[in-house]
Amino acid sequence: MQQAHITKQQWLIKFWFTLSLFAVVLVIAVNSGNQHQYKDVVESGVLKIITRNSPTTYFQDRDQSSGFEYELALKFSEYLGVDLQVEVADSLEDLITEVESGNVAFAAAGLTVTDARSEHVTFADSYMSVTQQLIYRTDRKRPKSMQAMLEGTLMVTAHSSHAQQLRHLQKTTMPALTWIERDDAEVSELVQMVENGEIDFTIVDSNEFQALSGFYPKVRTAFDVSQSQNLAWAFAKFSDNQLLNEARDFFMLMRETGLLAQLQERYYGHQNQLDNVGTLTFLRQADERLEKYQPLFEQTALQHDVDWRLLAAIGYQESHWRARARSRTGVRGLMMLTRTTAKEMGVENRLDPEQSIVGGSAYFAKLKKRFSHINEPDRTWLSLAAYNVGAGHVRDAQRLTEQQGGDSERWMDVKDRLPLLTKKKYYKNTQYGYARGYEPVHYVQNIRKFYDLLVWREQPEPSYTMLGEGSIFTASNTYKTIPPLTQVN
Ligand code: GLU
Repeated sequence: MQQAHITKQQWLIKFWFTLSLFAVVLVIAVNSGNQHQYKDVVESGVLKIITRNSPTTYFQDRDQSSGFEYELALKFSEYLGVDLQVEVADSLEDLITEVESGNVAFAAAGLTVTDARSEHVTFADSYMSVTQQLIYRTDRKRPKSMQAMLEGTLMVTAHSSHAQQLRHLQKTTMPALTWIERDDAEVSELVQMVENGEIDFTIVDSNEFQALSGFYPKVRTAFDVSQSQNLAWAFAKFSDNQLLNEARDFFMLMRETGLLAQLQERYYGHQNQLDNVGTLTFLRQADERLEKYQPLFEQTALQHDVDWRLLAAIGYQESHWRARARSRTGVRGLMMLTRTTAKEMGVENRLDPEQSIVGGSAYFAKLKKRFSHINEPDRTWLSLAAYNVGAGHVRDAQRLTEQQGGDSERWMDVKDRLPLLTKKKYYKNTQYGYARGYEPVHYVQNIRKFYDLLVWREQPEPSYTMLGEGSIFTASNTYKTIPPLTQVN
């Protein structure tokens, strides 16, 4: 009896010992796959994330990295006090697999939070809501209902939330629905295919279309294909919560300080300002008229250390690059100088394109000096507003911004106050009085748009390059040029 009792005890001890050993081995095995927990990040000084190339996530603009997700992740790495390392996945499937296997700290890739994905990854707090939209070409009748998707070729990105949504529709209400999934194409390529008439429809997220639509004048959105959905960063399921908690605190801070809204404004704020006709006209006139003046813009830009495309964008907004342009108020020439400004800048003949470009650019550079204490890109936007409406009115709007608790050094705050200068209640207490304050707002938005179009026009194909060493994926050369959403520095 005694013997048997001891044996049972021994067995129990053995059992628990084996079980705990197994648990320890399991924990070690699981964690060894993930070298990107909070403490690893801090110890190594490197935050390694994965993203994908697209206009709303990550792209190279000339020699610098850009993109909403990239900048967000960069801010997070600064918040943690470490360096950022970026990997680029060439499909959404690879992206999720990389997160799951713990080869990166997380994915910052405009990922939609879906139930199916939540089985594989843990999402951080959402930073943006979007809807999925059906995109069509304007030479066909606007699709009115989901049934219209049956009447043409529909193509979406493989493994995307869009493909998931189509599967859901097929299962529930539209068994006849068919579509093509592409692993090697991202949104801008699909939108381009609709624009070219190669396919009839695609589905993209509303933020993606907002960023793209200005570059593809022949496409529109028909209707929402989904309810509102959340975008968030994706972490490995087994990762410790510390990094996730840091991300939570970070997003809270980004919200509270208004930095998240500012970043959104930078990437999405000036889109959709031009109608499609405006974009087509711009591109046509860039082909027809710009060549003649481009060397002048380039030379002048060098002197003032600004981007020539910004000066060219001002020139287009002012006169559509016409040397003899004239406004009702007697403002004249390619850069539309007033008599006073022309005199101040030493311009003798406002109709001489060279004098006009040199004088206008010097005037812009002078305005930029007045705002030299302000960080880019806000400094550039405020200087442009001053070029349009006068520095005095911009200063008034800045003071109003401050009085209302806004930040007078932020364009997104000041642009909300500029239109108040048309209202007596506000302008009666300002130094320079009434101004058509909504005009500089449109003015700046248009120039930002023209600038983006000029950058886009120049980009060689393919435009993707990768950042940093250790990228495990190679950029796919099936990508087409991405319209850049640059900030001007
Ligand atoms: N938000 C989409 C997703 O998570 C993006 C996919 C895409 O643009 O292709 O699947």
